[in-house]
Amino acid sequence: MSEAKVSVLDWGFLHSDVTYDTVHVWDGRFFRLNLHLDRFSQSMQRLRMKLPYDRTEIATILANCVFLSGHTSAYVDMICTRGASPTFSRDPRDAENRFIAFALPFGSVANKEQLERGLHIAISDTVRIPPTSVDPKIKNCHWLDLVQGLFEAYDYGAETALIVDTNGNIAEGPGFNVFAVKDGRLRTPANAVLPGITRQSVFDLCSELGMSAVAGDIGPSEIKAADEVFITSTAGGIMPVTKIDAATMGDGKVGAVTRRLMSLYWKKHTDPEWSSPVSELASLINKP
Ligand code: PLP
Repeated sequence: MSEAKVSVLDWGFLHSDVTYDTVHVWDGRFFRLNLHLDRFSQSMQRLRMKLPYDRTEIATILANCVFLSGHTSAYVDMICTRGASPTFSRDPRDAENRFIAFALPFGSVANKEQLERGLHIAISDTVRIPPTSVDPKIKNCHWLDLVQGLFEAYDYGAETALIVDTNGNIAEGPGFNVFAVKDGRLRTPANAVLPGITRQSVFDLCSELGMSAVAGDIGPSEIKAADEVFITSTAGGIMPVTKIDAATMGDGKVGAVTRRLMSLYWKKHTDPEWSSPVSELASLINKP
């Protein structure tokens, strides 16, 4: 990692002109790699970026990063930056797009203790950058609003933040989507959010379980009155929330729906329909 380099002239570094995706590896298996590759490729298309690698080559590079790092559970990043122009042109069409990939040990938004007792979240006053300015479907690094929200949450004494959209409804947090459970039905914000792969996994699990899960507006008072709340991210999966601002969720303990989904989510990590062995893709490097 210490030898990786990025040009100080890269538009990714200078202007946040970059997209990325993060997939995780659990016990030697990629989880939902195809969905991450789909989203990465759609983000690049929307930003008019191109790489000299096709999908299989990207997957192989990622697998080799994991293989070389030696991590069996990892957080794997694929990044495409606008790059720099060899002539210092200010025209983005002249920049040569760059690809960066790396594997780190698996990390989580919530630590072990927080996963057991549930997180304390504060709803910040910061408004998420509107989708008409930056398309949230493109996984991006426009995080100043999210980081500001985090500082506000820390000032409040909470552990992480939820920030609102321009209509005052709940949007998302720094690196995660959110779900509210009321009377056994699930809802997650529809507007100003990244369509998270873990959010998609919750939809898929709910459809297997015959539970209702929809995307729609959720106001701050509504989420505080929910029976259960949890957040979702590749960095940690499904993570319970038991307190929002001063409001306690249900009886203050991690709820039954959240527990059931968490357990099923982790079970899917060995299901061949949801996961694939890193070794299958890291074939190039294994060959003499
Ligand atoms: N929202 C934002 C802003 C994110 O950066 C992320 C992940 O990094 C998520 C939501 C969760 O997405 P996923 O479940 O694909 O990790």
